[in-house]
Amino acid sequence: MSSHDNSVRDVIIIGSGPAGYTAAIYAARANLKPMLLEGMQPGGQLTITTDVENYPGYPEGVMGPKMMEDFKAQATRFGTEILFEQVTKVDFSKRPFTLTTDFNEFKANAIIVCTGASAKLLGLESETRLMGHGVSACATCDGAFYKQKSVMVVGGGDTAMEEANFLTRHASKVTVVHRRDTFRASKIMYDRARANPKIEWLLNKEPLEMLTGANGKLNRVKLRDTKSGELAEVPTDGLFVAIGHKPNTEIFKDVLDMDETGYLKVHNGTYTSIEGVFAAGDVADKVYRQAVTAAGMGCMAAIDVERWLERQGAH
Ligand SMILES: Cc1cc2nc3c(=O)[nH]c(=O)nc-3n(C[C@H](O)[C@H](O)[C@H](O)COP(=O)(O)OP(=O)(O)OC[C@H]3O[C@@H](n4cnc5c(N)ncnc54)[C@H](O)[C@@H]3O)c2cc1C
Repeated sequence: MSSHDNSVRDVIIIGSGPAGYTAAIYAARANLKPMLLEGMQPGGQLTITTDVENYPGYPEGVMGPKMMEDFKAQATRFGTEILFEQVTKVDFSKRPFTLTTDFNEFKANAIIVCTGASAKLLGLESETRLMGHGVSACATCDGAFYKQKSVMVVGGGDTAMEEANFLTRHASKVTVVHRRDTFRASKIMYDRARANPKIEWLLNKEPLEMLTGANGKLNRVKLRDTKSGELAEVPTDGLFVAIGHKPNTEIFKDVLDMDETGYLKVHNGTYTSIEGVFAAGDVADKVYRQAVTAAGMGCMAAIDVERWLERQGAH
């Protein structure tokens, strides 16, 4: 049980990725004394990667976990109350809103939802271990590390086609590995990938294990033929898992408007379908999915909250 008072807060931020911490920095500097609930993954998605080279302000690049420590330090500096708690239930039917965690119940006049999204993974132990060491779940983020190298993309949907096409800008060869020989991808995305001379195809194959060389980095993948069961080890410099993303919105089901894939719908910036509840970052963005865009939306949400509270006469 954490020590805190039971007063109604101006704003509580759910989530501790780039969106949540940026919202906290802005809300704290606007004197809203925000509370931030970190959830099960303090620091968010960037804590499972290594180098981040595209976040402005770090000309030499920065390790993902270090960058998120910096975000946290900045949010703390302005007085954000940060708790390592996961929200299990929300009551947005009346104000102040109520958030329930495993240990506590919190009340606030405004909420900023920054619960992010998770890249779907294959579920292999070697995949988790080598994430950031040859295995990635984001071509936009990590493609540039594979200049003139050979990479694999696992998946058969639009994400896989898009990532494969994108990666041909950097890699000399991109091999799409798909467990079937039919594709979920839209025809236009599939046709574009098929027409790309740098893309090769390994169909009816699924990765069983990612294997390393002497330097501890991925250098080959053990594939199983889904029809014959035959096993083969295929060399590669990198493997991109591209089987889609899942927004972390279970607790908002039937509460906040979402699209058919579970992403929160926002309007006029960061307003959700319930007045006083705002959303920022990957949880409401299935298009850009970058740290800088998540941070940008976090800033927008804090400004939206500040102005909204002022209109309510609540602050
Ligand atoms: C392997 C990998 C590498 C990447 N590399 C880059 C890169 O180089 N550059 C780049 O710009 N982007 C990169 N990205 C994308 C980037 O990580 C995301 O766009 C960004 O983290 C989104 O930020 P966010 O704040 O919206 O959410 P997230 O970072 O997803 O954080 C979500 C937060 O919500 C919390 N949460 C979830 N549910 C609850 C709950 N019920 N209660 C309380 N808290 C909850 C979690 O604990 C977490 O702290 C990468 C992503 C991955 C997976």
